[in-house]
Amino acid sequence: MSLLVVGTVAFDSVESPFGKAEHILGGAGTYIGLSASYLTQPINLVSVVGEDFPEEHFQRMRNRNIDISGIEIVKGGKTFFWAGKYRQDLNTRDTLDTQLNVLATFNPVVPEHMRSAEFLMLGNLLPDVQRKVMEQLNGRPKLVVMDTMNFWIEHYHDSLMEGLKLTDVLTINDEEARMLSGEYALPKAAQKILSMGPKYLVIKKGEHGALLFGEGKAFFAPALPLEEVFDPTGAGDSFAGGFIGYLSRTNDVSFENMKRALIYGSVMASFCVERFGTEQLVNLDTSAINDRIRRFVELTQFEIPLS
Ligand code: AMP
Repeated sequence: MSLLVVGTVAFDSVESPFGKAEHILGGAGTYIGLSASYLTQPINLVSVVGEDFPEEHFQRMRNRNIDISGIEIVKGGKTFFWAGKYRQDLNTRDTLDTQLNVLATFNPVVPEHMRSAEFLMLGNLLPDVQRKVMEQLNGRPKLVVMDTMNFWIEHYHDSLMEGLKLTDVLTINDEEARMLSGEYALPKAAQKILSMGPKYLVIKKGEHGALLFGEGKAFFAPALPLEEVFDPTGAGDSFAGGFIGYLSRTNDVSFENMKRALIYGSVMASFCVERFGTEQLVNLDTSAINDRIRRFVELTQFEIPLS
C-alpha cells in the first residue's frame, strides 16, 4: 500500500555520553521514511529543506527508494536545525537548540501523484502543516497516524487539537502523554487523549517499551535489551516508521495487527539507537530485521501454569 510521510528533514547535532556528532542528517521525516522503507513501498516524503542541504543526503533517501520529489528546496534558505544532549541514563535529553529556518514558512504542496495515499504518517511537525497535508489528499486515507512532541503541545495547543480530531493513531512518549492529558497515570492519560479524537494511542517509553491503547483494550511491547546504545535520537520516529510500515505492508488496521506493528516499531527503533544518527538505518536488510523479530518472540513468550 502507498505510504505518504510528512515530517522534518533536518540537520542534527547530538551529544551523548558516548560521543558527539555535529550537523548530521536527521529529522522526523527522514527517520520515519528510512525505517518504513524496509517494510513497505512506495514511500513518498513531503518536507522542506534549504539550499544548504547536500545532495549526498538526498541520495541516502533515494537509495532506499524513497520518492523525494515532495521535498521543497527553498532558494537561499537554511534547513531546520536541532541540537540535543542526552543525560547519563540516555532516556532523558535536553534540547539545546531548535532553529525552524525554512520550516517557519513552510506551506506544503503534496505532488499530484502522492495524493491518493492509503496510509498517512504525520511526523512530528507544526500541527498546521500536518493538517494542510491532510487537506490536499484525494479522500481520507485508510489510516492516519500522527506523531508530535512537547514543543508543539506547549506552543501550538489549539492547532494540535484540531489535527487530533482527524487522526486514527497518535504516537507520543510518556512525558508528552502526561503533558497533553494533565494526568500522571498512563491508562488515565490514555483515556483522556482518546477522547480528544484518536481511536488508538501508542505511548513510547524509550528503553521501557511501548503501550497501545484503543477499543477499550491495552497491549504492551518491551524494547529489546541492547548491549550497545549510542544515540537514541530518532528512536521514536524509527518506531513510528516500523509501526506504519508494517500496517501498510499488511493492509490490516485491526487492533490485533497493531500489536504486531508495535513489535516491528520496537525492532526498527533498536537498530536506530545502536549507531549515531541514521548510520544503521541506511544499511539494513530483511534478514537482520527478521532475526530481531525472532529474538523478540523468544524474549517475550512463556507458558505459565495456573494454580
Ligand atoms: P525522536 O528522537 O524520535 O524524538 O526524533 C528526533 C528527531 O526529531 C531529530 O532528528 C530532530 O531533527 C527532530 N526534531 C527535533 N525537534 C523537532 C521539532 N520541534 N519538530 C520536528 N522535528 C523535530
